[in-house]
Amino acid sequence: MTTNSQVERKDFNDVMVPCYNPMEIIPVKGEGARIWDQAGKEYIDFAGGIAVSCLGHCHPVMVNALQEQSQKLWHLSNVMTNEPAIRLARKLTEVSFAEKVFFANSGAEANEAALKLARRWAVDVHGAEKSEIIAFKQGFHGRTFFTVTVGGQAAYSDGFGPKPGDITHLEYNNLAELEAHMSEKTCAIMMEPLQGEGGLISPTSEFVEGVRALCDKYNALLIFDEVQTGNGRTGDFYAYQGLGVTPDILSTAKSLGGGFPIGAMLTTTELAQHLKVGTHGSTYGGNPLACAVAEAVIEEVSKPETLAGVKEREQWFRDGLEALNAKYDMFAEIRGKGLLLGAALNEEWQGRARDVLVAAGEQGLMVLVAGVNVVRFTPSLVITKEEVELGFERLDKALSSLKK
Ligand SMILES: *Cc1c(COP(=O)(O)O)cnc(C)c1O
Repeated sequence: MTTNSQVERKDFNDVMVPCYNPMEIIPVKGEGARIWDQAGKEYIDFAGGIAVSCLGHCHPVMVNALQEQSQKLWHLSNVMTNEPAIRLARKLTEVSFAEKVFFANSGAEANEAALKLARRWAVDVHGAEKSEIIAFKQGFHGRTFFTVTVGGQAAYSDGFGPKPGDITHLEYNNLAELEAHMSEKTCAIMMEPLQGEGGLISPTSEFVEGVRALCDKYNALLIFDEVQTGNGRTGDFYAYQGLGVTPDILSTAKSLGGGFPIGAMLTTTELAQHLKVGTHGSTYGGNPLACAVAEAVIEEVSKPETLAGVKEREQWFRDGLEALNAKYDMFAEIRGKGLLLGAALNEEWQGRARDVLVAAGEQGLMVLVAGVNVVRFTPSLVITKEEVELGFERLDKALSSLKK
């Protein structure tokens, strides 16, 4: 038996594919919005595992759901269905526009299903020439080859050989450009209803309403990637509900499982019928453990008081960031919605978001970046006032150390 302390960060470089460069510390325990590393040092977690740990770490409702299901049934495959999967699908149809659900294991897989459904629908209903997927620059949709190619950063999809075709990238929030480009050849538009990885960019209501209208005009499907914005993150259960624009297909993951891997594609009965038996699938999709946890998570998150609490906490964060900015003058803008927030660095601090992340880590605070100019915050949706205050004390020290 090896103990945890015998494993160190330097071992990562020996045994792991080097596509990540993790922080020096190795967390070993989490509770609420706190985590502890191997040395017992405590951190306040404003990162939430990149918008995943929506109920914080080891929330009792998740632990109970997992423990209970773990003694009943772990896995079947889709040769058989299971109770947690059907119950979770039912709940997802109750909290959204959706009538049908496909389960996957990640955001990328949910998006892959969404894109394949759109293409299959177009082939079935309109013919093979209706194949163009329009997406937006700086958008992020995952790392499978189809989804990463639809994503708006060529650097992520270059260098892997021939790419999936007929994908167009346009500027987010530029309705005129989209209007000029669209045609009956457009199969679907895929977009985030608030760009996360791209720097916390909200769509204007003119843009998002215009996208819907253009999809209707040209018989194209609207796919909302709500992998990051979904499950209460923006203060509505799904961000589309706050925008008043309903997509045809929606992908969800990250906070859906609160830390247990699961993704889902939501759609209508009319569209769903195009993925008939044998057209798509996943061994683990709809896994009973994952679905039991997600069921407990969305029951908790969809409560009106949890969603109202997100809006309240957004204000705590905005107030905290504004106060620090008054003191240190580092941010040009605080943006985003709910607990998907970004502090965009001003001219003087351009390119230094990672320095803030590292300095915060030294003070015992976890934050994220979105690109090189935005410090991102995606904490637990139920983070306490005390945890937020302690986190801001540490962020204050971190910014102070950078100013010196
Ligand atoms: C994280 C993310 C994904 C990818 O999800 P994975 O679970 O990493 O595959 C896709 N879209 C958006 C908007 C995301 O934020």
